Amino acid sequence: MKTRLKQLCDSYQMQFLTDVPLNGHTTFHIGGNADFWIEISSVQGLCAAVRFCQENALPYFIMGRGSNILAADNGYRGVILHLGNAFSEIAFQDENTLVCQSGAMLSNIAKAAVSRNLSGMEALSGIPGTVGGALFMNAGAYKREMKDITVSCTYVDSTGTEQTLSGEKLDLSYRHSFFTEHPGYIITSVTIQLEKGNPKEISDKMQDFAEKRKSKQPLNFPSAGSTFKRPKVGYASQLIDECGLKGYQVGDAQVSEKHAGFVINLNHATCAEVLRLCRDVHDKVLAEKGCVLELEPVLLGLQEGDISCS
Ligand SMILES: Cc1cc2nc3c(=O)[nH]c(=O)nc-3n(C[C@H](O)[C@H](O)[C@H](O)COP(=O)(O)OP(=O)(O)OC[C@H]3O[C@@H](n4cnc5c(N)ncnc54)[C@H](O)[C@@H]3O)c2cc1C
Repeated sequence: MKTRLKQLCDSYQMQFLTDVPLNGHTTFHIGGNADFWIEISSVQGLCAAVRFCQENALPYFIMGRGSNILAADNGYRGVILHLGNAFSEIAFQDENTLVCQSGAMLSNIAKAAVSRNLSGMEALSGIPGTVGGALFMNAGAYKREMKDITVSCTYVDSTGTEQTLSGEKLDLSYRHSFFTEHPGYIITSVTIQLEKGNPKEISDKMQDFAEKRKSKQPLNFPSAGSTFKRPKVGYASQLIDECGLKGYQVGDAQVSEKHAGFVINLNHATCAEVLRLCRDVHDKVLAEKGCVLELEPVLLGLQEGDISCS
């Protein structure tokens, strides 16, 4: 299997690695080794890799920047299809429209937009992920979501065929998209439409949002951003804070003292410690506030039974 997969990657000039530590590829700095890792560099190569996995019943997982992932301590028994730098072109289709390969970072798309005096990416520019990962879960910040700027996308389905999806069919709502309903599908490009703006106003806004993040979020510690989704009423961070859980720790996993919505990795936190901490937070918030908190990060390499908080 390993030799044939390597041959396939060689024929599409894609990097192929084995036993890759996931703690080096997730912003949480948590996770054991993945058996196989393919650095995707073309749609054709991606389609071939998907077909190979399907034909050989080999599990695969799609990873962008790894900024919304909690990976298992014993890693992943399958292939990580990584859409990163090798798949990150940003091109202008016309004055206002950008076509971005899914591995492009939101920060780089925002820079490209500024260079053409285009407004619309400012609030999203500080989200530390790829545009593919952002569309997958309709990422958003400061009242702006991917939903507001996305026109269409292309993706590879589970038969290894490229398709297009646009408008309403993207099914974007809070942390939800067509792709959260079809987890094996892989976004290959995202078409974004922005508006002409004033260059100084665009830069000032971006700077403002960056400062807000720096002052409110524990950016000097590894994390996966907000650990819990926004509940039906109120904010997870406020409920957790009101339960006196700021600074609560299990091993090296801690509810941030700076922002109760973030679980941070103080040093060598394990996935098991993060899950145990999340379970405790979930239980206390349920008991004291009657509110069910749901995890936001995607779990990689964990079975339903391993998860004590969902
Ligand atoms: C400090 C910090 C701050 C954050 N702030 C915010 C915020 O303000 N708002 C917000 O929404 N999020 C925030 N996040 C979370 C995260 O950055 C976003 O969810 C981001 O969009 C994830 O992108 P990614 O490339 O890292 O995806 P990954 O973490 O690599 O993957 C996340 C999910 O998307 C899927 N996926 C990734 N790429 C593709 C693709 N090409 N096709 C199909 N599926 C794909 C993966 O399989 C996985 O299920 C923050 C995270 C951190 C660490």
